[in-house]
Amino acid sequence: MTMTTNIILLGPPGAGKGTQARRLVEERGLVQLSTGDMLREARSSNSEMGKVVADVMDKGQLVTDEIVIGLIREKLETTEAPGFIFDGFPRTLAQADALGDLLTGMGQQIDVVIEMQVDDAALVDRISGRFTCGNCGEVYHDTTRPTEKPGVCDVCGSTDLKRRADDNAESLKTRLLEYYKKTSPLIGYYYAQGRLQSLNGLADIEEVAGRMGQIVDAAVSA
Ligand code: AMP
Repeated sequence: MTMTTNIILLGPPGAGKGTQARRLVEERGLVQLSTGDMLREARSSNSEMGKVVADVMDKGQLVTDEIVIGLIREKLETTEAPGFIFDGFPRTLAQADALGDLLTGMGQQIDVVIEMQVDDAALVDRISGRFTCGNCGEVYHDTTRPTEKPGVCDVCGSTDLKRRADDNAESLKTRLLEYYKKTSPLIGYYYAQGRLQSLNGLADIEEVAGRMGQIVDAAVSA
């Protein structure tokens, strides 16, 4: 069996999963698998699937298990990597079971599930100020992490800065409900498997990254 490191980042919308996943990509060469990014790509390509998911996403509801499991399966089958960071997947128990089966079939496993704990009041502010670079994916925030030059990405210089259609108060309400109803049971699911680690997602980005690094190191050497 080859040595790989597979990590799940678990937490409500706005917890900082995407930001921290990008750090792990840079620092450890892992591959980020974000079902949210895959679905946004599908909808912008105007494919049949894209049309089906666009409306569901804008409302803040979950896309069907069948679609997201299919997307993940395809990526796992076609990507060579020293390990994966699952960002925004799994979001239901059925997805978690399917991921376990897919990895087992590849002779791999989930090494650690990192739960990013944040309080709900902070999420509204985080989500409503959020924007990203359409070219390189860097994540910014109006007050806590603005670009150095207004309208220009610090990392790649692109001026294609975007806000997500579902980053608004109305859709956030549904996204939070979906999280508590369908995704938060995964905390117990992975705890019972002995894979869960939790951290304070409200600490600043560097502190969260440091804590995450310790958790990943411990999981890899275990
Ligand atoms: P995210 O970028 O992770 O916040 O995801 C944005 C939206 O994509 C969610 O609100 C859902 O509509 C959809 N989505 C992303 N990942 C999943 C998933 N694993 N299962 C179901 N729907 C998902």
